[in-house]
Amino acid sequence: MDRVTLDRIQTAHPCLIEELGKIYAEICTALKGRAICRFTHVLRTNAEQDALYAIGRTKPGKIVTNARSGDSYHNYGLAVDICLIIDGKVASWDMRTDFDADGIADWMEAVKVFKAYGWEWGGDWKRFPDAPHFQKTFGKSIAELKRGNVKIC
Ligand SMILES: [Zn+2]
Repeated sequence: MDRVTLDRIQTAHPCLIEELGKIYAEICTALKGRAICRFTHVLRTNAEQDALYAIGRTKPGKIVTNARSGDSYHNYGLAVDICLIIDGKVASWDMRTDFDADGIADWMEAVKVFKAYGWEWGGDWKRFPDAPHFQKTFGKSIAELKRGNVKIC
């Protein structure tokens, strides 16, 4: 278990905090080798989203997102990004390595747990696949969420 991840889970939408605790516990149980899972982003504030949108546009670097503030499910605490931490120190986005030698790549073990809870995986998207990203939208569009006062659960 990773303290940083447990703290980040608390920033999720209130409807998802408990479920993310279960998801994270199941992922931790599934990964038995050199890798653990870390949630790198859960809630992203509008200011953080704008700073990200600026990268590759008005700030140096390659474009990392097409979402402006309010346009990402992260802005509502309904999305999670993950990475793996190898040997307790190196962040990795390796989707193929089976670090715990149980026949399934560790990354895909995490994907399997999220999907079992009904989360959508960005790695399945045909346009702009986003393998570290998971979201649970409760059927709400970004437009609805932007208007506010949306009952999620
Ligand atoms: Zn994301």
